[in-house]
Amino acid sequence: MNTISEEESTEILPCTARSSPSGSSPPPKRCLKEDDVFMERAFKQARLALSEGEVPVGCVFVQGDQHVICEGRNATNNKLTGEAHAEIKCIDQILAQNAKTDWSRVSLYVTVEPCIMCAAALKMLGVGKIVFGCHNPRFGGMGTVLDAMSVACSCPSPYIRSDVRSEEAIDLLKVFYAGINPSAPEDKVKKKKRAEH
Ligand SMILES: [Zn+2]
Repeated sequence: MNTISEEESTEILPCTARSSPSGSSPPPKRCLKEDDVFMERAFKQARLALSEGEVPVGCVFVQGDQHVICEGRNATNNKLTGEAHAEIKCIDQILAQNAKTDWSRVSLYVTVEPCIMCAAALKMLGVGKIVFGCHNPRFGGMGTVLDAMSVACSCPSPYIRSDVRSEEAIDLLKVFYAGINPSAPEDKVKKKKRAEH
């Protein structure tokens, strides 16, 4: 499914206008409804990551507020590289498909606040809108540890919405860090975390 319902897709949302990076004015209601749809897809990816023994972070990139162009999940353990964050993997795929992607029309939905590395990449690309779940107290690059969005450069700042289903995102992380792999047999439950997002 690449689009939301026909009724909802008749018009591009004005939320791409990004009224203010600080989010002082709420996004239009339709935008909130679409946010829910895409965040659910991001959570599906996060749950898949958890089942694969990865830090449960999932994301979805949407073009024009309705067309999913990429979705992915964290893979740092399986790929043995700290760069295999969900967002970076998707960015690479999107650029491979279309190097001239208009990032100002792209929205990112991700279950956890992007880390400093990912936030800087998103800022440099000029991604138009970022919706995330819980804050990332160790590596958050959207203001929690560092605000990559405030870096002075010519790149436009995105519209940002945070704390979307944040408790659910935290619960998934807690399951991972407690070493509880829901897809593993009980006697093979991991005792230790293997890596961190
Ligand atoms: Zn990251």
